[in-house]
Amino acid sequence: APQPARCRATTTCPYCGVGCGVAVELEQDQDSVRIVSLSGDVAHPANHGRLCVKGSALAETLSADGRLTMPQVRDEAGVLREVSWETALDLIAARFADLSRTHGGESIAAYLSGQLLTEDYYVANKLFKGFIGTPHLDTNSRLCMASAVVAHKRAFGADAVPCSYEDLERAELVVLVGSNLAWNHPVLFQRLKQARIDNPLLRIVVIDPRVTDSCEIADLYLGLRPGSDARLFNGLLAYMADRGRLDRLYLKAHTQGFDAALKAARREDCSLAAIARDCDVDVERLETFYYWFATQLHVVTLFSQGVNQSTSGTDKGNAIINCHLAGGKLGLPGAGPFSITGQPNAMGGREVGGLANQLAAHMDYETPGARELVGEFWNAPNIPQGPGHKAVELFAAIERGEIQALWIMATNPAVSLPDSTRVRAALAACPLVIVSECMADSDTLAYADVVLPASSWSEKDGTVTNSERCISRQRGLLAPPGEARHDWWQLAEVGKRMGYQAAFGYSGPHAIFREHARLSGFRNVAPRHKAGSKPLAASSIRRLFNIAPLAELDREGYDALRPIQWPVRRGEKGELIGTLRLFEDATFNTPNGRARLVPVTPQLPHQALSDATPLRLNTGRIRDQWHTMTRTARSARLMNHRAEPFVELHPQDAAARGLQDGALAQLAGRDEQGSVRGDYRARVRISHGQRQGEVFIPMHWNDHFASHGRAGALLAGLVDPFSGQPESKHGAVDVMPL
Ligand code: SF4
Repeated sequence: APQPARCRATTTCPYCGVGCGVAVELEQDQDSVRIVSLSGDVAHPANHGRLCVKGSALAETLSADGRLTMPQVRDEAGVLREVSWETALDLIAARFADLSRTHGGESIAAYLSGQLLTEDYYVANKLFKGFIGTPHLDTNSRLCMASAVVAHKRAFGADAVPCSYEDLERAELVVLVGSNLAWNHPVLFQRLKQARIDNPLLRIVVIDPRVTDSCEIADLYLGLRPGSDARLFNGLLAYMADRGRLDRLYLKAHTQGFDAALKAARREDCSLAAIARDCDVDVERLETFYYWFATQLHVVTLFSQGVNQSTSGTDKGNAIINCHLAGGKLGLPGAGPFSITGQPNAMGGREVGGLANQLAAHMDYETPGARELVGEFWNAPNIPQGPGHKAVELFAAIERGEIQALWIMATNPAVSLPDSTRVRAALAACPLVIVSECMADSDTLAYADVVLPASSWSEKDGTVTNSERCISRQRGLLAPPGEARHDWWQLAEVGKRMGYQAAFGYSGPHAIFREHARLSGFRNVAPRHKAGSKPLAASSIRRLFNIAPLAELDREGYDALRPIQWPVRRGEKGELIGTLRLFEDATFNTPNGRARLVPVTPQLPHQALSDATPLRLNTGRIRDQWHTMTRTARSARLMNHRAEPFVELHPQDAAARGLQDGALAQLAGRDEQGSVRGDYRARVRISHGQRQGEVFIPMHWNDHFASHGRAGALLAGLVDPFSGQPESKHGAVDVMPL
């Protein structure tokens, strides 16, 4: 018999925003292709061959068991029945056309995911915003980094992450704020750990209410009071000013707003003792952190969901950025504020406009000329007038009956959104819910009127952008099972059935990517900075994001694309050149080219503690699971890390409730009327790393893996007023013996 052929290929891990390269060995015979081995891609700049346990377990989650393989439509008896693609797509297109006629395009919405590839996101954004004419397209990335996006825009004039991962290796001080890097971005943690070995002078500070595994490499730990981050960084700004540690030349030449930001910081007592009291940290440790930050130039501050998932997450992000701008610690090797995203393609979604407040290609609705420019480029008839509903608002609009049809792709909002019981009720009441999903155990399928089987990792083909702006190929290596199809294809087929054949007649992901890249450079000219506050025009706003040279890639060039950081330009020999670091020339995307320091008034969490809910609830990821576990729970190795939901409690909080380590406990919150919100049941883990008065629970468990493990049901849907990001780190609950 002929021997199976073997070949190698590279792709990208789908499990977090580090975006590690993965090398796979494939075996092909007459009937099928299989992945026979998998390792880190040594040539990928994100990981240089490393993988964490989730990435290395990818091949263990690829079985066809549990996959959705046929389109389904719910019949009049409420039963999902298998149908052909023709039937499902015709039904969606007809219902969308009908709703557009009777209720307007704004009655239709989409809720997407940072799991989608950039090509999927691009087609969705174009279909909904350009042709259906609704601005109501948002994404679960809203739960992840939306506050950092707004903070970037306020400070830099554009949603731009200045740093690269290699800055961690070139820094003198790395500060982790609200980031358990060891669990949530493990390969970056490995890089940082190695950097510390290679450079004994590198110092690491961890700022987090919980003692986490990231503290293993910390020189200094500040276990601050939850929500006091802005007070801490406002205090740092005042400390730098008081100790003569500002970069006056940088402030004068390249920024605006310093005086107002400092004045806002000084509205509260900025003595070390007062800040230490308000943040509930040791005053000597506080002073050490301030001294280290103020006296080092090469400082990277990594911030993540602990900062973003807050009703004042945007302000917290700006309080951090203010300190970097005040010290000129930006645009240099080993320096800058560095937002680390949770999802593999949170950044790619932002690039195409996959947030409700964006239009396309990093342009907002408010960007002068953006609607006309995008309308012309797409030849689109229906560009909305202004922003749509952000995630939490979107489900409230469904509850009110304003949204009549919702297309959910690659996410499980029935578990992952805050106040998820209310989200479920909204989904149940929505006249048309379409769910594109690869796994059969997504809880949201229970609310679907139409189920579309989607391709998954190793089948999907396209690009993702990681936390350091690096565009990488995620390659389609295996055939999707049964009738599963790519998300972009599903969207394009509906677009064509609605009469827009020319706009959606893509021959493959390479064609979509080329169009996306062309839009980034369409009528794009160098920005003209001038005095005043008039926003930069659409024709110049995309300077930072320009990837137009990638529009010249043919299919082979796209297939062979190596990781590259935007913005991208051509070198003298025609080679593609990415950009390691932004703002090296200290010119920003604001009207006058200056970065903005933003006055920040610290706020405490909005979910109030009470006699009935005296404990502060912190929700987050664990090391070996991803999102709502629909894929990672399929690996026994990954399940071994934490086999069931748990609640971490300080010993005194446990003792006060008669709870011992390993006991079963129940958590509940309260809604505005005082009624019980949520019912989370889990085993107690007593932890000395937990602050007294605070509890931690994992966010992953869905109804298929634990009957009472839904963390989101405990949280109120309170959001940051600028970013719309929910306050998932600051719930209010009580814990009782079960
Ligand atoms: Fe995948 Fe993130 Fe682990 Fe890298 S660090 S292997 S991207 S989960």
